Amino acid sequence: MPSLLHKYFTEMGIDVNWYKKSSYKNPIISNYGFDELRNVVSKCENCKLYKTRNKTVFGSGSINAEIMIIGEAPGRDEDEQGEPFIGRAGKLLDAFLKSINLSREKVYITNTVKCRPPDNRNPSAEELDQCSSFLTSQINAVKPKVLVLLGKVAAKSLLDDDSPMAELRQKRFFIDKYNIPIIVFYHPAYILRSPLKKSEVWEDLKYLNNLLNENVC
Ligand code: URA
Repeated sequence: MPSLLHKYFTEMGIDVNWYKKSSYKNPIISNYGFDELRNVVSKCENCKLYKTRNKTVFGSGSINAEIMIIGEAPGRDEDEQGEPFIGRAGKLLDAFLKSINLSREKVYITNTVKCRPPDNRNPSAEELDQCSSFLTSQINAVKPKVLVLLGKVAAKSLLDDDSPMAELRQKRFFIDKYNIPIIVFYHPAYILRSPLKKSEVWEDLKYLNNLLNENVC
């Protein structure tokens, strides 16, 4: 917008940046279909991550999935190819799923933010906030029976809970917004760095399996 007009509107008390602010962002997002939503995400400039991304990473899998898995943020491979969890952590995630007879095609996988943060840093609170309506729309569209959050960043973002992983695992959380059980797993990237924790992942997978076999799910 030309700066004179900008000044004029601002002096009149009109906030010319209203559309960039989180409380106004994507006001009709819940009315979008899944493909439309993917398209909106691909053009998103809500936060500064768009400046450094190659591709947005919307999500993949079945839109009728019972399980929705939410990671942290795309890494380098994901940013290049536009698909979630395709690097080393993704291969490990595939192996975890396979061990309980699941595959990528049977679950829906996405991340808390849809663009790669530079140098794989954690997404900032503002970036998480700016992207959260996309995730909400995805959850509402897929209507999974359970949400699986991978790691502390996803847990903090959705549950607003900063507890250590040891206190988050093997519990089911409910938040007003979704009314489905939410559980927290170690992030596969953490398991790659701490392979001794692999046996605990097996416990988590059994916990998920039990949850799915219960009537609550
Ligand atoms: N780590 C994540 O949290 N998400 C991905 O998509 C890849 C790695």
